[in-house]
Amino acid sequence: MSSSSVTLNNGVEIPAVGFGVFQTPPDETVTAVETALAAGYRHIDTAAAYLNERGVGEAIRRSGLDRSELFIETKVWITDYGYDATLHAYDKSAAKLGIEQIDLLILHQALPGEFELTLDAYRALERLLADGKVRAIGVSNFMPAHLARLLAETSVVPAVNQIEVHPYFRQSELLAVDAEHGILSQAWSPIGGITFYRDGSHGSTLEDATIGKIAAAHGRTPAQVMLRWHLQQGRQVIPKSVRPSRIAENLDVFGFELTGDELAAIDALDTGVRGGPEPEQITRETFGLQIPEA
Ligand code: NDP
Repeated sequence: MSSSSVTLNNGVEIPAVGFGVFQTPPDETVTAVETALAAGYRHIDTAAAYLNERGVGEAIRRSGLDRSELFIETKVWITDYGYDATLHAYDKSAAKLGIEQIDLLILHQALPGEFELTLDAYRALERLLADGKVRAIGVSNFMPAHLARLLAETSVVPAVNQIEVHPYFRQSELLAVDAEHGILSQAWSPIGGITFYRDGSHGSTLEDATIGKIAAAHGRTPAQVMLRWHLQQGRQVIPKSVRPSRIAENLDVFGFELTGDELAAIDALDTGVRGGPEPEQITRETFGLQIPEA
């Protein structure tokens, strides 16, 4: 894939490279998103649980860009699951973002222990899609068993599954399941953010010798090589940064091509070790953040 956009399974177009704002503090979000929009990003990935949807909305307004040029994605948090609660979650997010239609609305997590509630939340997304309040719907952190049950019990195949994918955790089986059903895999922590956020005990993908060698061979940075690896394997990416030079660097990934051997060498770095929370263990008790009203 060398083009700069991807077509979702319902025909809607999404830019191949989006801009993530997880852990961008609310007071820095306006500037970060304004910087990204000025650099050329058109897709912003936020979430109700990031508590920065208002900042994203403010940056959209300040950008002066026509709404039709932008692709805004947000996520429903698990404490807002249930048919009526999820319809209301849409109202909260749309009001904070200051937009009337959300381009892509996804469930942030499966609730494996309360899957009926998860299904009710997804049915609300189907309703919002039918009503034209969203242009596409999807899920995040859904494992193969969650997808199988969702596909068996609901009508609309998710347009995306936003999952942890970076060179140290590739989730090959899940990527294959997504592809089999025409679900776009969106890579979160695409340059391995989750591997170096924490306590420094994990190795950083940015300092990986194999990635560094490939980067040097192309006169590119490790981050650009990782993003290119995703794009060439058909994934969409949403790198996060609050620094203007990195924001620009992460979008400048269309002028070079990795070889098959280089892609395979990066695939071989997979450790099978997840950096983020185990999807099977997500419960409302342990992750029970309440999402404020708009
Ligand atoms: P990323 O892989 O995007 O890495 C972000 C980290 O890398 C930050 O510490 C950033 O620091 C740094 N960084 C960014 N660009 C560069 C660069 N070119 N060179 C060196 N360092 C760089 O990880 P994230 O976890 O932030 O994931 C990206 C997005 O994915 C999130 O913002 C969010 O939208 C989504 N996400 C979704 C999840 C889900 O459950 N659905 C979970 C986690 C993330 P700095 O800002 O200082 O530049």
